[in-house]
Amino acid sequence: MPQIITQISEQLHTSWQKELANVVTDPKTLLEMLDIAPQAYQDHFKARKLFPVRVPRPFIKRMKKGDINDPLLTQVMPLRDEFDLSDGYLTDPLQEHDTVAEGLLHKYRHRVLMIVKAGCAVNCRYCFRRHFPYADNSPNKARWQQALDYIAGHKEISEVIFSGGDPLMASDEHLAWLIERIEAIPHVKRLRLHSRLPVVIPQRITPMLVNLLSNSRLKATIVFHINHANEVDETFISAVEPLRAARVPLFNQSVLLKGVNDNSQVLCRLSEVLFDNGIQPYYLHMFDPVQGAAHFDVKEEDAVKIVNEMLAVLPGFLMPKLVREIAGEANKTPINLT
Ligand code: SF4
Repeated sequence: MPQIITQISEQLHTSWQKELANVVTDPKTLLEMLDIAPQAYQDHFKARKLFPVRVPRPFIKRMKKGDINDPLLTQVMPLRDEFDLSDGYLTDPLQEHDTVAEGLLHKYRHRVLMIVKAGCAVNCRYCFRRHFPYADNSPNKARWQQALDYIAGHKEISEVIFSGGDPLMASDEHLAWLIERIEAIPHVKRLRLHSRLPVVIPQRITPMLVNLLSNSRLKATIVFHINHANEVDETFISAVEPLRAARVPLFNQSVLLKGVNDNSQVLCRLSEVLFDNGIQPYYLHMFDPVQGAAHFDVKEEDAVKIVNEMLAVLPGFLMPKLVREIAGEANKTPINLT
């Protein structure tokens, strides 16, 4: 039986890596796949020089053909607006470019964030790490030791967060190696993975990944990153099922984005769909003011109005917390709703 599981795991493993190798990187191809004539948008394509285009095909399948304003397409479509250098929009809005060890951020006292992998399967145009110096923070196995020594030397750290890029860009074998070393540090109790990869390539949830998370001494959780209910399709729901069956707690965080989900009905629908499929709405983040993406920003007064409308519809346990991350603060800052 274990041999069969390994074989199935390898097949699926191969399949997610094939999807990864097959992502669409040309905006013209992207629009043609959606039956949108690319000629009218040529001028926007130049923004790929600022941040490359990467869109997995399973994610494109969920976009509505012929609709340039599709909320999933809006998240990945390069725009000439990205060349605007608006005041207050920075390359490092959260002051993350100083790490305590290669690949390791220590923003909050009891938690550290490991940049497990530099790249992502999808490049979201609003990403606050679109300018992050990944080249300086891509440790291999030998170079992770400095980060592991830092965690071992800081007894206040009870939780390690795997981030990126996207941590699930790492192979299951690499994750197993890293998890084993973190398990050996007695004061670490929890492991959290923040990932968008299974949303855009559901095959990434392999049997080996489920085993790794459910059999770890650490209490492991996954926080998905989903912004719109249209991102949740049958393939994603089926892929998540083994994690639910293995009782791995699943959460979701969204970013409030103009033209994508800045509407209470859209966000209520997202919360309902997530909960129906065993994923707890967790955070609704205010946009982080990153240079090149100001056109996604939603004013705080509008965000408060949207969230108050949601409160009038949803039970409390379906409400994500509206928060803003402020560089240097000891935790995420809740937004005052009055
Ligand atoms: S998946 Fe996350 S880290 Fe990667 S580009 Fe999108 S928002 Fe940024």
